[in-house]
Amino acid sequence: MSSEIHVITIRDSDLDKLVEFTKKTYPYESCALFIGNINGHKATVDEILFAENIDYSHVSFSINPEFLYQVYMKAEKENKVITGIFHSHPTVSAPSSVDLKYMEYNPVAWIILGVLDETNIKKEDMRAYQYWENSIKEVKIEIMNI
Ligand SMILES: [Zn+2]
Repeated sequence: MSSEIHVITIRDSDLDKLVEFTKKTYPYESCALFIGNINGHKATVDEILFAENIDYSHVSFSINPEFLYQVYMKAEKENKVITGIFHSHPTVSAPSSVDLKYMEYNPVAWIILGVLDETNIKKEDMRAYQYWENSIKEVKIEIMNI
């Protein structure tokens, strides 16, 4: 059921919302789910579901399984899929060893916002990756200027 993703398309205004959310959540890791479609190797972000990091940790995140289930049901009802999992890091925008494990089980786009300087959290630091065919590859983030 999963697809290889080369590009994930997201609105610039949504990137701003993710940055604002991460500022609000700091110093804990922030997390969110993206609902959209995957056509060919291109994924969309039609809607962002901001989640609570129930770990309340600055080195890990967990999403309430009940919330996750609700998001899956919502996507299915709208004939869509979960295209991405977003979270922030207190360091660089690269997957941690724990992320790698979860990425293997959830082969969607993983969008990571590294926070090297809490006073300067910026959307340009977002990177996307996918676990595909036994390796991690970078996914291009295509920004729509709306
Ligand atoms: Zn992580």
